[in-house]
Amino acid sequence: MEINRKGNYIFINDKWIKINVYNGYEHVRINGKRITVHRLVYETFHQVCILPGNHIHHKDENKKNNNIDNLELLSESEHKRLHFMGNQIAFKGGSVRWHKRIKKWIVSVCSNYKSTHLGYYNSKEEGQQILNNYYSVDEK
Ligand SMILES: [Zn+2]
Repeated sequence: MEINRKGNYIFINDKWIKINVYNGYEHVRINGKRITVHRLVYETFHQVCILPGNHIHHKDENKKNNNIDNLELLSESEHKRLHFMGNQIAFKGGSVRWHKRIKKWIVSVCSNYKSTHLGYYNSKEEGQQILNNYYSVDEK
């Protein structure tokens, strides 16, 4: 099998097939089956088949960047851990975590089994700074 692409078409088995997007992922229909383009690219390039329980991760987090250099094979648990880490920092008793719906970073701290909310921030770095300040003041 050879893979080539031209805009939203992909060349597979001597045919140009239209790429559709579902859930942010590009896919094509082959023999009535929906197959994601990132899996197809990975399997073709590396000449492997991706077994259930394995995922293909987009390194730059762009689901539409199906360049082979952007794709990485991970086990389901490695993959979940990776995304969780990317969306959360645990620091001392506090955390900075991404809130999907409001699209902000939430900073909270925990002491004496009570959690205190320190606000919403636009970047993870800002949130980390708030945590640093909180704990450095506390230690003095
Ligand atoms: Zn991923």
